Amino acid sequence: IEQMKAQIASKDPWFSLEFFPPKTMEGAYDLFQRMKILAQGQPLFCDVTWHPSNQPGNMEKPTSSMCVASTMLNYLNIQTMLHVTCCHQPKQNIKEHLITAKKQGIRNILALRGDSLPGQEWNPKDNDLTHAKDFVKFIKDEHEDHFVIAVAGYPVGHPECPSYEDDLRYLKEKVDAGADFVISQLFFDVKTFINFVADCRKFKITCPIIPGILPIQSYDSLRHISKLAKLEVPKNIVDTIQPIKDNDEAIRNFGIFQAVEMCRALLNSDHAPGLHFYTLNRDYATNSILKQLGLLTADIQRTLPWKPSANYARMD
Ligand code: FAD
Repeated sequence: IEQMKAQIASKDPWFSLEFFPPKTMEGAYDLFQRMKILAQGQPLFCDVTWHPSNQPGNMEKPTSSMCVASTMLNYLNIQTMLHVTCCHQPKQNIKEHLITAKKQGIRNILALRGDSLPGQEWNPKDNDLTHAKDFVKFIKDEHEDHFVIAVAGYPVGHPECPSYEDDLRYLKEKVDAGADFVISQLFFDVKTFINFVADCRKFKITCPIIPGILPIQSYDSLRHISKLAKLEVPKNIVDTIQPIKDNDEAIRNFGIFQAVEMCRALLNSDHAPGLHFYTLNRDYATNSILKQLGLLTADIQRTLPWKPSANYARMD
């Protein structure tokens, strides 16, 4: 854990990769192949995102975040960061998730509040964890220093927060509750991230802040993700990709070029100790970016040493 914290804060550039849990068993098999390819480059850790369907009784399913994270750690030997959200869940569930994670050997948690489910308003009761800050404190109370804890940061402020300054104040509280580092929401302009880090420092947020990089991979996925994150895509990017929107290869090449430029500027800025990639479960773009940045230490493509068990039912 101490080694991990030291590496996160170190001057040697590193990268981490984010994946979401697959919807089907075939998807899980495909995902592990891609992870295996990307893992050849020695990411510091890989994240698995959290979905509200991850309830205690579902954790054994190959499509659950816990199962994917555990497989990644215990079979692919990749240091894993499990995302966990606390909204829409009683404390007892969260307690069980953390105990399961510990039993599986997971040592890194991205502690999130999460969002209300579509059409279901969430009105936290007295005993519920209302904000990510409460969740961080809960992890510390229950497990002391067992887990490395990361939290989310928003370079232009969280969309629900009345002001950017308030959001920085809340981020400071979240870090002070016991977070080891911050991973940022995606952004489109290096200056946005650099200003955010400078503002965090003014608010006495001193921990490492890792930029979240989204390689643009297709017109539709960019629209979908920016809508989810409630971010506006800058006009210069829209103007560039609009005319090529039906040409996936051209968009992907533009995305690789744009991400490489951003990453170089970030690594040269002294504000980014590492780079966190939102891979969208694809390997080509992230692999190409890492190669161009010289961050891939090996490039051997291996296939999984096992086949998925025929006993697993499809989950879709
Ligand atoms: P919080 O830090 O609790 O903040 C939520 C809102 O409350 C903000 O507006 C904040 O300003 C405000 N706030 C905080 N403290 C207080 C306070 N004391 N009083 C009043 N207001 C306060 N979502 C998923 O469902 N699954 C994932 O795997 C996932 N991964 C993510 C990874 C990253 C790197 C990022 C940046 C986001 C991720 N999200 C994920 C999205 C995230 O769940 C949403 O952005 C969610 O709306 C906020 O979660 P949070 O942990 O930042 O919340």
